[in-house]
Amino acid sequence: MSGPAQVDVAVIGGGIAGLWLLARLQKAGYSAVLLEAEALGGGQTLASQGIVHGGLKYAINLTLGSDSEALADMPARWRACLDGRGEVDLHGLKPAAERHLFWARRTLA
Ligand SMILES: Cc1cc2nc3c(=O)[nH]c(=O)nc-3n(C[C@H](O)[C@H](O)[C@H](O)COP(=O)(O)OP(=O)(O)OC[C@H]3O[C@@H](n4cnc5c(N)ncnc54)[C@H](O)[C@@H]3O)c2cc1C
Repeated sequence: MSGPAQVDVAVIGGGIAGLWLLARLQKAGYSAVLLEAEALGGGQTLASQGIVHGGLKYAINLTLGSDSEALADMPARWRACLDGRGEVDLHGLKPAAERHLFWARRTLA
């Protein structure tokens, strides 16, 4: 009979956030387990439209604030991951499209 498992971190929830965190923890050398109550990726992650907008979608009315500044480096971070040189290796993933265009209504922009 084995004793209780010893790990550095237990991640609760296997959506994109938990899976991303698990990958980063393991890459950093921590022992980690992920506990999922239903199915991996089966929550909001499955419902996602799959647009890698990094939060820009929520600034579409051009109300740019500190959040926007914090998100400014997101495209480069995702591009690095898709190229296999980022914090999580996504190089085998084939995006459905290279670009997604947004436009704001009722503004000159
Ligand atoms: C309709 C829709 C469209 C979207 N489109 C986009 C998009 O195009 N682009 C974008 O960037 N974002 C989009 N989002 C937002 C994005 O999907 C979410 O921000 C993201 O998926 C959240 O991931 P998460 O891992 O935090 O949560 P989830 O994917 O919901 O994962 C949480 C997990 O935790 C598990 N869990 C909960 N409680 C427990 C517990 N007590 N023990 C164990 N496991 C537990 C759940 O079963 C679930 O699997 C969209 C969201 C929705 C709803």
